[in-house]
Amino acid sequence: MTDSLDDSDAGPDTSEDPEYSLSSDDDTTDAQSSQTPDLDDVVFDNLDTGSTGDSDEASRGLFDDLLEGEPIFENKEVLRPSYTPHKLPHREEQINNMATILVTALRGDTPSNILIYGKTGTGKTASAKFVSEELETTSQKYEVPCEVEYINCEVTDTQYRVLAQLANKFINKNADVIDDRIETLEDVLSRAREDATELEATEFDSVDALESEIDALEADKDDFEEVPMTGWPTDRVYSSFFDAVDYHERVVVIMLDEIDKLVEKSGDDTLYNLSRMNSELENSRVSIMGISNDLKFTDFLDPRVKSSLGEEEIVFPPYDANQLRDILQARADVAFKGSALSDDVIPLCAAFAAQEHGDARRALDLLRTAGELAERDQTDQVEEDHVRQAQEKIELDRVVEVVRTLPTQSKIVLFAIILLEKNGVRNINTGEVFNIYKNLCEEIDADVLTQRRVTDLISELDMLGIVNAVVVSKGRYGRTKEISLSVPTEETEAVLLSDSRLGDIDDVQPFVQARFDN
Ligand code: ADP
Ligand code: MG
Repeated sequence: MTDSLDDSDAGPDTSEDPEYSLSSDDDTTDAQSSQTPDLDDVVFDNLDTGSTGDSDEASRGLFDDLLEGEPIFENKEVLRPSYTPHKLPHREEQINNMATILVTALRGDTPSNILIYGKTGTGKTASAKFVSEELETTSQKYEVPCEVEYINCEVTDTQYRVLAQLANKFINKNADVIDDRIETLEDVLSRAREDATELEATEFDSVDALESEIDALEADKDDFEEVPMTGWPTDRVYSSFFDAVDYHERVVVIMLDEIDKLVEKSGDDTLYNLSRMNSELENSRVSIMGISNDLKFTDFLDPRVKSSLGEEEIVFPPYDANQLRDILQARADVAFKGSALSDDVIPLCAAFAAQEHGDARRALDLLRTAGELAERDQTDQVEEDHVRQAQEKIELDRVVEVVRTLPTQSKIVLFAIILLEKNGVRNINTGEVFNIYKNLCEEIDADVLTQRRVTDLISELDMLGIVNAVVVSKGRYGRTKEISLSVPTEETEAVLLSDSRLGDIDDVQPFVQARFDN
């Protein structure tokens, strides 16, 4: 959701904020452009110049003014998450480790299974994709049958879907291989029909033998039935996959990215089935590379799966600020026009992202968003202040997304906390939240959970970074939680009220009063 800047943000809002007005006033001479430009200004300018009768000016279109400034980006795509870089600074060691293990596949043997760990944005997916491309290229060069299949388990998150996706990929690959072979054989066949000596250089001793081989291949192709995305029993899907992989000799590396999501959602059956395949395969071999953001996910695995999957482990540590600078610089050289970045921009993006557990994705998001904000300001340089605005925007986007997708009950609890804060209540405790929560539930006809459950929901909000709940000791009265909001009140309230159920509550004052009555 940070991919684009829509019109509702970074407009008048940010220019009213004293923190933001600094740079635009100082850096621009034109009074008009010291405000964030918007379409109204542009249209108004055009109408003005149009009325002077200057035909050249009059023909200026809606977008001319916006296009006029020096563009900041040379190639913005390289800053997007979908872009796979070909150089990955500070990941040489991990990439070499992967390659050393996987080179076995190019010798026709089965590589050990690999488990890769590291927090988000530490380059796991980018490195794995890089290695898999190299592996496939080299296997083609030396004509060793080796294939890599990448699956993102956050999207493909059940055993059925993983197996079906794999089955269909291999079914399609097999069909291609069969088609090629049939084409070659039919060519030989047509020549052999003219001249029987054509067969001498082949393994076939008669036209009949050749014809029946072609028939057999056609039959094989018909046998491969694509697996539907639902509906089959899982063991049928598994055996389709098994047969498709084993159709001819090859080494298959299956990359399961976000493997922790698969295990969390669907248990470890898939991994169990995949890891025991080699003992039954006749022609091919399978090796698994699992990639996980969660360092502890193997705790939930069957011990057999755990030891098989973790034959080799590679850790991706977080990047520090200096490493993030190198990564950003390499991308920025391609992404931005020559002098578009002022000196502080990359170090600041790197510093912010280093605080965010060394997340390169965050660093790149910051850099891209800062560039977009500068573009919007119609300046030709990205300044430090654009990075600060980008940081706030990304943080706010995150909060909005987390709040928007909360379950209704959590939204009501959060709304109760907001109402208390807005009414100046300090050191909010669980009991106070519960009283308001109860009244809100009654008002919108929602089930009322127990105070215990509400306490749990508050802890969840705490873990999400939306509220801060600290346990304080009240001496002999035991302990209580003191709750405060960790996100901007107005924006969060607006997101909550955009939920149709909460939006129905119009007068909230009585609820806050009620806390004194209970
Ligand atoms: P992960 O899979 O560990 O969450 P990714 O591989 O998706 O992280 O990396 C996040 C973003 O950062 C991607 O856009 C990726 O291209 C970039 N990135 C990560 N590490 C590097 C690196 N060493 N060099 C260049 N870009 C990197
Ligand atoms: Mg990843």
